[in-house]
Amino acid sequence: MKAAVFHGPRDVRFERIDRPVLKEGEALLQVRACGICGSDLHTYRHGMFLQLGNPLESGRVLGHEFSGEIVEIGGDVSGVNIGDRVVSVGVGANAEFIKLTPMMIDSLVPFDESVSFVEAATTEPLATSLHAARLGEAKDGETHVIMGAGIIGLGILQCIKASSSASVILVDLSSKRLAKARELGADVTINAGDKNAVDEVLALTGSTQLNVVEAVQGNVDAVYDCAGFGKNFKGISVLEQAMSMVRQNGKVVVVAVFEQDVTIDYNMVVRKGIRVVGSWAWSREEFIEAFHLISSGKVDRKPLVSHTFKLEQASEAYETQLLAEEAIKVVFTP
Ligand SMILES: [Zn+2]
Repeated sequence: MKAAVFHGPRDVRFERIDRPVLKEGEALLQVRACGICGSDLHTYRHGMFLQLGNPLESGRVLGHEFSGEIVEIGGDVSGVNIGDRVVSVGVGANAEFIKLTPMMIDSLVPFDESVSFVEAATTEPLATSLHAARLGEAKDGETHVIMGAGIIGLGILQCIKASSSASVILVDLSSKRLAKARELGADVTINAGDKNAVDEVLALTGSTQLNVVEAVQGNVDAVYDCAGFGKNFKGISVLEQAMSMVRQNGKVVVVAVFEQDVTIDYNMVVRKGIRVVGSWAWSREEFIEAFHLISSGKVDRKPLVSHTFKLEQASEAYETQLLAEEAIKVVFTP
């Protein structure tokens, strides 16, 4: 079968590999759509998160955000039929077929023709966004700032807007991504390449009065760090910028992955009483809810898919997803 095989940093190749052989209780899914995740990019650039790839004798197959059609069932398996359209999570879906284990079969989410395979394949990153948005607890009338308008940041925007009337400010370096954020309902967007994001946000939101003598800079209820600190990043980290914007007792939700250590003046955390919360992945219930946000039409994921590629274009697909200015979500349609 066809596959995109990762061999090392900046080296993903289109290859033919053995099609999985089923054991009793397993099922074969023909992959119809598989997104390239931010974590796949960390692997692609630096070889991080190798555990999210399916190892072969030489190289490994990445890809865990997928949907497809059941084409073969090993023996007697209940709850799944040939021809079912399903969204699932596993590793190794940058390929024509992927084997579903009994555990994966138990957690499949089936869907009908009203949802496309490409939309369904964006369920996993939306679940990641939903988990982060829940930690931020947006309420009507609040102001939230999202640092980073990639698929996760834009998904957080969608989740906040689907559940509250909070104002949302998006910060990014890509004018294309920020235009997308406005299209999806962002109230304000700031291009951090043109303007100082902290100054802009402070000018918009002001400060918090701590007590009669002391004011604390920043009046944002929650800030989401969807940018992290990449190996090539310099200057003040997005995390520290987030802490400068947030109000007294506000929340900083950290969703991004850090490729290097950051230095933070922790007095700011103490003095402002900031709640710093890490956000990783999602629960099964959040995954199902994310899918329902899509299938009910509350959230439209179609505008986020910027490119689709065939497996034959494996290298081009990964290189495109690296182009933060151009790409939002790159999806393989094998
Ligand atoms: Zn992912």
